[in-house]
Amino acid sequence: MNADRNELKAQVVARVEALREELIDLSLRIHDHPEIAFEEEKACQWLCGYLEEHGFDVEPGFCQMPTAFRASSGDGRPCVAFLAEYDALPGLGHACGHNVIAASSVGAAVAAKGALDATGGSLVVIGTPAEEVHGGKAIMAERGAFDELDAAMLSHPGSRNAVLTAALACASITVEYFGKEAHAATRPEAGVNALDALILAFNAIAALRQHIRDSARIHGVITDGGHAPNVIPAHSAASFLVRAEDEDYLEELKEKVLACFRSGAQATGARLEYRWGDVQYAPMRSNGPLAEAYRQNLAEMGRLVEDSPVPRPLGSTDVGNVSIVVPTIHPSIAIAPREVSIHTPDFARIAASQEGHRGLLDAAKALAMTAVDVLVDADLRQRMQDEFLKQA
Ligand SMILES: [Zn+2]
Ligand SMILES: [Zn+2]
Repeated sequence: MNADRNELKAQVVARVEALREELIDLSLRIHDHPEIAFEEEKACQWLCGYLEEHGFDVEPGFCQMPTAFRASSGDGRPCVAFLAEYDALPGLGHACGHNVIAASSVGAAVAAKGALDATGGSLVVIGTPAEEVHGGKAIMAERGAFDELDAAMLSHPGSRNAVLTAALACASITVEYFGKEAHAATRPEAGVNALDALILAFNAIAALRQHIRDSARIHGVITDGGHAPNVIPAHSAASFLVRAEDEDYLEELKEKVLACFRSGAQATGARLEYRWGDVQYAPMRSNGPLAEAYRQNLAEMGRLVEDSPVPRPLGSTDVGNVSIVVPTIHPSIAIAPREVSIHTPDFARIAASQEGHRGLLDAAKALAMTAVDVLVDADLRQRMQDEFLKQA
C-alpha cells in the first residue's frame, strides 16, 4: 500500500512540475488584473476555463454567487476540496497573494486528478470570492457549499512556512451618533455633540482593552467626525472589529463594546444607532491529523515547518467558517522574508516573483500529495473525523 501511495505521490509531483508554466501564467494573469471582493470576474473565468480544459465539470455561479464556482472530478466519497481565493485589496492589488492561492489549489487539483483512477473518490475545487471583506466562505458555508466533503485545504502565501494556523473569531460593527448642530462659539449650549459621544466611546473601549484576554482584539476607525470646527457635529460614525479566540468570549466582548458605545450616547445625549455586520468569522480549527499529513508532504519539498505548539493568531479568515463544517487546514507557505508583511506593496510585488512561483509550485505539490493521503488512507480519514468531532 505504502509503495503504491508513494508512487502516486511521485506522479502528482511530476504532474505539477509538468504544469509549471501554465500555473505560473495563471498566477501572473490574476496578479496583473487585480479584482476586489465580488468583482473577481476575470479570475473566476480563467480558473473555470483552466479546470474545464483539464477535464473538470465546472459549475460557475455556485451558491448563487456570480464569482464563486465549484469544479469536480471523480465520483463520491472520499471527497477532497481545494479552496481557491482570488480577491485583491483595494488600491494594493494582490498584496495578500491570493493569485498564488488560486494557482496552487487549481494546480493541486489538476495534478491529483491523475491519481483518481487508482484511489477512487473525488476532488473538487471550490472558488470562494471575497475573503478580504464580506466573508464569502461564511456565506457559502451557510448555503451548504462545504457539506459532503472529507477534507478542505488551501495554502496561503506569507513570510513563514507553517502548517497550523490560528485565526480569531471576528465580528464587525458600524455605529453612528446623531446630535444637534449649533454654532460652536456663540451657542454651544444649544448643540448635542455627536463627535464627543464617539470620542467618549472610543476612550471607553481603550480602557476596556486593559481588561480583556491577551488574544482578543478590538480596533476601529472614525469614519465621520464632523466637518467644520465652528459647528457642533450633529453626526459621527465609526467602524470597529471585535475579535476573540472563541465564539463565547466574542459574544461577551460584543456586549462590552456595545456598552462603551451606549456610554457615549448616555453622556452626551446623542442618539446611537449601530449595526453588527451580517457575516461573523468563525475561529480557525486546524485539523491535527490532516495537518500532520501535510507537514510531512511539505517537508518533501525541503520546507521544514517551524510551528510553535500554540500558533499565534494572525487575524481572522473565513476559512474558519469552513473549518467548523469539515476537517480543514490553512497552512502558510513562505514566499517573502520575515520582515515583509502581507497587505503591503512589497508583498504584492513578491506574489508575482520567482519566490512567489516557487511557493505556488511547492504548495500545489504538498496539497496534491495530501489529497492522495486522504483518498487512500481510511485510517487517516477516521482520525481526522475523530478530531473534528472532538473539536466541535
Ligand atoms: Zn488578506
Ligand atoms: Zn489572504
